[in-house]
Amino acid sequence: MLADPIGILGGTFDPIHNGHLEIAVDAAKQLGIADMRLMPNPMPPHRDEPLLAPDDRIQALNLALGSYPSLSLEMSEWNAVTQGEANSGYTVESMRRLRALYPDRPIVFVLGDDAYEHIASWKEYSALPALCHMVVVSRPGYQQAIDGVAAEWLDRYKPTPDLSIETSLAGSVQHLLVTAVDVSATQIRRILGAGKLPEGLLPEAVLRFLESKLCHPTSAQN
Ligand code: ATP
Repeated sequence: MLADPIGILGGTFDPIHNGHLEIAVDAAKQLGIADMRLMPNPMPPHRDEPLLAPDDRIQALNLALGSYPSLSLEMSEWNAVTQGEANSGYTVESMRRLRALYPDRPIVFVLGDDAYEHIASWKEYSALPALCHMVVVSRPGYQQAIDGVAAEWLDRYKPTPDLSIETSLAGSVQHLLVTAVDVSATQIRRILGAGKLPEGLLPEAVLRFLESKLCHPTSAQN
């Protein structure tokens, strides 16, 4: 009998928004994951520097989670990166770290199809199925067909009775239809950049926090 699974939604959360929160809650519900965690990265590889300062992103995450008690924060990747551990911001290293911390719990990495499509460009991507399950959720408006390694994996690692979140620590890759919320952090940053408030796209407490930052924009860089 395996221990309870841990669900992980990794991201920059610049800032956290309803899309993140709803996919995390819906995926956890559909997959029977009681322990679903958001795993922020202070400075993901291959990305522009985030708009919100690291502390502000964490504060926004904590405010958001106030309305989502079933979700929690996974800070191991954040801590490793901020402590300067080599390569620590890559998903494969984060999965290794979690695997070492939780040797008997299935780890379920949730990601949007826009991110999964590029899986073959990720550092040591071929090591991932041995470390975690992967659940790919649809991103509203994202129309790109999944092909190459990404498509191959959905076929090769399809869940079976012997290869599933209930029966294995890692190894399955599946697509999951979740509640669609058409919002991105890019869209929110654009709205903030125009001096407006992204009403209705993130929890009220986060909106108020961002509003206070807009009025006193200590962290805004553009
Ligand atoms: P940005 O617009 O800055 O790229 P983002 O909105 O994609 O940000 P991230 O923190 O980069 O947010 O995303 C973390 C994870 O959540 C990724 O796997 C991404 O695909 C997924 N995700 C984010 N928003 C949605 C959404 N609205 N629907 C489905 N998946 C999403």
